[in-house]
Amino acid sequence: MPNASTSARFRALPSVATLVAERGPVAHGTAAAFGKLTDGPHFADVQQLIAAAIVPAAVLLAPGDARQAATWLETLRRDVRLGLAPILLNRSFGAASDALSDGVASSSESAVECAAAIAARAPSLGQRETAEGDERLLAFLYLRAGRVLTPVADWRDERIYRYPLADALGRPGEDGFLMLDRLRRRGLLETADLIERVHTCPACSAGQLLFIETCPQCGSIDTVEQNFLHCYACGNVGAQEEYLTQGGLGCPKCSARLRHIGVDYDRALETLACRGCGGRFTQPDVKARCLQCSKLSRTDELAERRYYGLRLSAAGELAARTGQVGDLFKLMDEFSQAHPEYFTRTLEWLLGLSRRHGEVQFGLICLRFANLHLLAARLPRHRLAQMFDALAQRLRALIRTTDLFMRDDDEYCWLLLPQTSPAGMGILLERIAALSEASMPDEGLRIEIATSAFSSVDTDEGITDARMLMGNLRNRAG
Ligand SMILES: [Zn+2]
Ligand SMILES: [Zn+2]
Ligand SMILES: [Zn+2]
Repeated sequence: MPNASTSARFRALPSVATLVAERGPVAHGTAAAFGKLTDGPHFADVQQLIAAAIVPAAVLLAPGDARQAATWLETLRRDVRLGLAPILLNRSFGAASDALSDGVASSSESAVECAAAIAARAPSLGQRETAEGDERLLAFLYLRAGRVLTPVADWRDERIYRYPLADALGRPGEDGFLMLDRLRRRGLLETADLIERVHTCPACSAGQLLFIETCPQCGSIDTVEQNFLHCYACGNVGAQEEYLTQGGLGCPKCSARLRHIGVDYDRALETLACRGCGGRFTQPDVKARCLQCSKLSRTDELAERRYYGLRLSAAGELAARTGQVGDLFKLMDEFSQAHPEYFTRTLEWLLGLSRRHGEVQFGLICLRFANLHLLAARLPRHRLAQMFDALAQRLRALIRTTDLFMRDDDEYCWLLLPQTSPAGMGILLERIAALSEASMPDEGLRIEIATSAFSSVDTDEGITDARMLMGNLRNRAG
């Protein structure tokens, strides 16, 4: 609806570029549909638009077909200057393309509304042109309040689902899915709706699986459905054809006439026969063959991946505005950083070992950087980075080469200490507490470190596995 405020905002927009396919039926109606917005510069080619001297406040696309829509959108989203700009389509071109756009501009007013909303959030984001990969994605989401990254089904992709925006905004060659996974683990993205559950190959994680029915006795796929009859007189079970005689049904073994079902005979439960081994069975063995690595798995061996819509969390919004606190862990990540899975497996192994052998003692410490987000909001970035680097150096000095260090997310880190007595762990905990005290008081602000610890000597805690133990410690450090 054109009103005073809309036209004021429209005038405030310096330029809305239009990219219209040279040929194709949609091109004609486009200028009319976009109304006054097409006053801005027109381009017929995406490279012309990228090379143009001015950066438009918004871009309207009228591609000739879905393939062109995808190419244009991918090129623009990858572009350093235009990647975060509002880009609207004249109509829908399918889920994968639409996911890269800012929607369909049903009218010139709706396009202006969208562009103005994004422009309004831009100042609080600061200069983000140089942002790359995950930072760029966070900036994109920050500019669009409430935007949800939706996974799109793609049978060509071995994960079956992909997030087109993550692929387009990530660094060249970066795996968009893993980037999102990392951001989620760090609490910068949170899940919205569950979109799909996909079974995946336990060997290579691909989702392209072929489900096949096999003989439970010999594994052959050559099985057929058959009716089997069971003779009451002698107990013979055989295929229905074997019972067919000139004078009706008769048992091939004892020659009894089978007149009445339920009296002389009945149907056997088995309805499947194997042509490989001749076996009969009621339920085939369902197996899954991975089309990527050919591994044949039982269905209960398959892993499952869940695809959710993803949106910026409160921590993610803060990270988009003030920079990611994850960057502060750079120095820590560089020294003896263990992979989370390796860390958990080692802990599991030590737990089992200490149960069987009393002389095996180890300790586990959960460290929580309790006020990082608060500090990030209050202190200049370089100041906080200095404080954190100093802390990381001193922490490094405390850790033996045989200890394992693992960073879970932006708040929690772990220390696994093999061959450590409760007394030894007590000393280390005191030193960690001292680190926090010494983290250079700056306007009364210091890095607060909360800890919780477990010693293998405390066995009677009802701890069954590594994950449960780590969950307990996380709660206690929170
Ligand atoms: Zn068989
Ligand atoms: Zn019989
Ligand atoms: Zn596989």
